Amino acid sequence: MLTIVATPIGNLLDLPQRAVQAFAEADIIACEDTRQTRKLLSLTGTLTKAQLLPYHDHNGAKMRPKLLTALSNGKKVVLVSDAGTPLISDPGYKLVAACHEGGIIVTSIPGPTAPIIALTMSGLPSDKFAFQGFVPAKKSAAAQALEASAQLDMTQIWFESARRLPTTLDLMLQAYGERLCVIARELTKLHEEIERAPLTVLAEKYQTAPPPRGEIVILVEGASAFHHAVSDDAIIALLSDALETHSVRDAVQQVEALTGAKKRHIYQLALTVQQKQPTPPDDSAASD
Ligand code: SAM
Repeated sequence: MLTIVATPIGNLLDLPQRAVQAFAEADIIACEDTRQTRKLLSLTGTLTKAQLLPYHDHNGAKMRPKLLTALSNGKKVVLVSDAGTPLISDPGYKLVAACHEGGIIVTSIPGPTAPIIALTMSGLPSDKFAFQGFVPAKKSAAAQALEASAQLDMTQIWFESARRLPTTLDLMLQAYGERLCVIARELTKLHEEIERAPLTVLAEKYQTAPPPRGEIVILVEGASAFHHAVSDDAIIALLSDALETHSVRDAVQQVEALTGAKKRHIYQLALTVQQKQPTPPDDSAASD
């Protein structure tokens, strides 16, 4: 049997009790990095006679047949990653697939995983969500990936390095428009922190503030959530400001970008506002 074992993402007390038992009974522990797993075993005082073997993206093709042979010979194999749940932006799915194809039983000892911890702490809708993995490192690929997810009507969960946070927030603002965003940092650790604010606010903050330290997950509201959340009063307030210096067409465009509300609806509100407050430039061409 292959047992997938989740390990802590910060707080060592989060090591599942059943994980300790699985380590003790294992013949082989397939580790993303054997040094990390040794450290975990030593810090948690977990005893095992298992052989620790590396299993990662670079040696997977070579290691899979070895692990499958051991499993077929009745050995107990445990799969772990450096932290959290294996396979979640970590190696393992090809091994699991190969086990199913080879008639080997797969089981799991569940435990911490950063995207789900972040989602439950975010206060964003959790009924539907899309875990998107890492934001691509190249700016053009990142912009493309964010664009591709912009219409999804569910909370988006992204892994990102803290260093790239400022650039990524800018790209998110361009792709998503204004939405509620949550940065979940150092989860389960001493400096655990949740920052929750509209994308514009966070993007502006990190233009000047130094990027945060440690590990982060970025979550953004789905396509329609923010639009529903923006009240007509808020839209009217934004329009009133914008109409002081812009044509109806430009004001509507600006408020659409800020709120993501439907253009037709903003335009109707703009006409009401305009009746009370004459606007300077001519905008007879405005339409939805
Ligand atoms: N398999 C892991 C899991 O289940 O959480 C995720 C591994 S992935 C290679 C590592 C990424 O997860 C980090 O770059 C960060 O985005 C996120 N992450 C891991 N631990 C975290 C923590 N304590 N707080 C916030 N984000 C974390």
